[in-house]
Formats: sequence, C-alpha cells, structure tokens
Amino acid sequence: MIGTPYEEIMKKYPKLFSNLSYVECDNGWADLIDKVSRRIHLINNSYENKEDGVFAAQIKEKFGGLRYYVDINGLLDHDREQVRTFISEAEKMSYSICTGCGKTKDAKIKRCPNC
Ligand SMILES: [Zn+2]
Repeated sequence: MIGTPYEEIMKKYPKLFSNLSYVECDNGWADLIDKVSRRIHLINNSYENKEDGVFAAQIKEKFGGLRYYVDINGLLDHDREQVRTFISEAEKMSYSICTGCGKTKDAKIKRCPNC
C-alpha cells in the first residue's frame, strides 16, 4: 500500500513527527514540507535525549500560506534560531506554490489556474 506523501514524510522524520499524526495540507506542498522537515530533522539528530528536539505540533494552510507550528524543547539558542529561520523561509515560499500541483502560483490565490 502506498501512503500519501505526508505519511511518507512523517515516517522519514519520526522524532519530528512523534506528536503529530496528520498534515492538514494538500499534496502540492509535499516537497516544500519535506525540505523544511529534513532541515529540522538534521538538527533533531544532534540531540540524543528523547525529550530534547523539535516536535511538529500542527501543519496546515491558512490564507494561502503554510503554517508550520512546532514545540521546541531544550535546544541551543543557535539551533532554535535556525529552526525559526527554516520555518519562516518555508512559510514565505508557500505563498508562491500551488497547494494542488506544487507549481508556481500567484500569492493571492491558493491554487494555480490549472488546478
Ligand atoms: Zn496547481
């Protein structure tokens, strides 16, 4: 059985997604969410303690933009800052990515004209 792209992403980054069972976005954002999740995952890997790290709390679409909410425990300031930067970059980029097909779109609309 082939899972949705988000099920695959959640399996790849088990620590990041240990508290989240569902990504509330259409599939067009799978690559974007995979990329930002991978960057966070690499930071998570440097914290061996199970409680320390970044944990996705909610990932959804709002007003045409990505909202990627996380809980952060016990991170060094530098890492915490990096995570915030990764997320804000992804959230900014999401406005020009169609939620349906992942292609470039106008910031004012959710989906490109073909979707
Ligand atoms: Zn589209």
